Amino acid sequence: MTSVHELIRDAATRESAHRRPIALRATGVSSCDTGLARDPWAIDQDPGYGPGASAADEIPGSAPRQGPLPAEYTAASDEELTARIRAAKETLGDRVRILGHFYQRDEIVEHADFVGDSFMLAQAAKQHPEAEAFVFCGVHFMAETADILSDAEQAVILPNLAAGCSMADMATIEQVEDCWRELTAALGPAEPGGLQPVIPVTYMNSSAAIKAFCGRNGGIVCTSSNARTVLEWAFERGQRVVFFPDQHLGRNTAKAMGIAEEQMPLWRPHLALGGNTEEQLRDARVILWNGFCSVHKRFTVGQIEQARADFPGVRVIVHPECPAAVVEAADGAGSTEYIRLEIEAAAPGSVIAVGTEINLVNRLQQQRPDLTIFCLDPVVCPCSTMYRIHPAYLAWTLEALVAGETPNRITVSDEVAADSRVALERMLAARP
Ligand code: SF4
Repeated sequence: MTSVHELIRDAATRESAHRRPIALRATGVSSCDTGLARDPWAIDQDPGYGPGASAADEIPGSAPRQGPLPAEYTAASDEELTARIRAAKETLGDRVRILGHFYQRDEIVEHADFVGDSFMLAQAAKQHPEAEAFVFCGVHFMAETADILSDAEQAVILPNLAAGCSMADMATIEQVEDCWRELTAALGPAEPGGLQPVIPVTYMNSSAAIKAFCGRNGGIVCTSSNARTVLEWAFERGQRVVFFPDQHLGRNTAKAMGIAEEQMPLWRPHLALGGNTEEQLRDARVILWNGFCSVHKRFTVGQIEQARADFPGVRVIVHPECPAAVVEAADGAGSTEYIRLEIEAAAPGSVIAVGTEINLVNRLQQQRPDLTIFCLDPVVCPCSTMYRIHPAYLAWTLEALVAGETPNRITVSDEVAADSRVALERMLAARP
């Protein structure tokens, strides 16, 4: 019998061929539509990312699973959940802070004490030693980073453990260690007094174990705002870089630095030498891990051409997790903060097409009603895991805290946290 997960995966494959939502008659959900955000507990028990942009991605067997949510939460109306969240938050006061990622739905963001990208939120946690707990409305690797940067006795809680990140999951620590062994054997040792053969660099969107690996091996972390500065730091110390896990951010950053595409081989983790020859690896400047964000991968040059045809004079801005051809066809590319600032600075009446996550795009339009802002992708397809933070999970988490319990605590071991901090501190020191 076909499982719900298989149905969702098949629908996602068909949808990418047809570029429009396909209803799943058997389950009543669509692979991509606004209804996805409604009842995530209906799919939280399934072994997969669920419907949405990452529906077709392979989930590691070790991915955390969320237990069932009590019926009093799943059956509650939106108004009741809002009232319960507000009441619990009032009771908890400054003891608990809610951190909300830019990509979260509005019904979550309205309760957040801080809204930002993953690193801004982890830093917000570091700046609030008075809080006993942080409820992290984002995904798993972000909660790990907040745990690394906050005090050991402060709890970081992920309201729904099914909120992972398919991009972060595309590089496991075992695969990265295998890659490192093969690379160091193929490239040989450093010349005395010379540059290291290869420096490991990981995007913030990776597990704590991979950040720690970079810290232990002379490497560094980057964000989408500082990727170029970080690569410059790495090239002062090494002949080449191996970049985890987002190939697109790595490629777009290296291309902007003038590095040729031929010097950026792709490392496919299931193949010997990542599918490359030793010569290709020796000639490389940036070895790109074969990972990607399934939300940003959906943007295409065709969508940009369509936007330009429909709205002559439109300004197109995209996130650097988009494929290189999309970044090249756009008028500008940069982090969420870059996109936010571009929109803040736009002249009234401007038309802006944005290549990033739909909740953020819609919120930017609400904040600037004098502009026309729209998402490049005509199909509403949210991140499969971000939307798993439903107000029902937030209410459940806060009420458990009021009752003296600490559900879904995300804990990074002391050893991994210490090595991760080394890589994060190198990034902060590398800032221009
Ligand atoms: S938007 Fe992409 S990178 Fe961000 S959590 Fe979702 S899958 Fe991961």
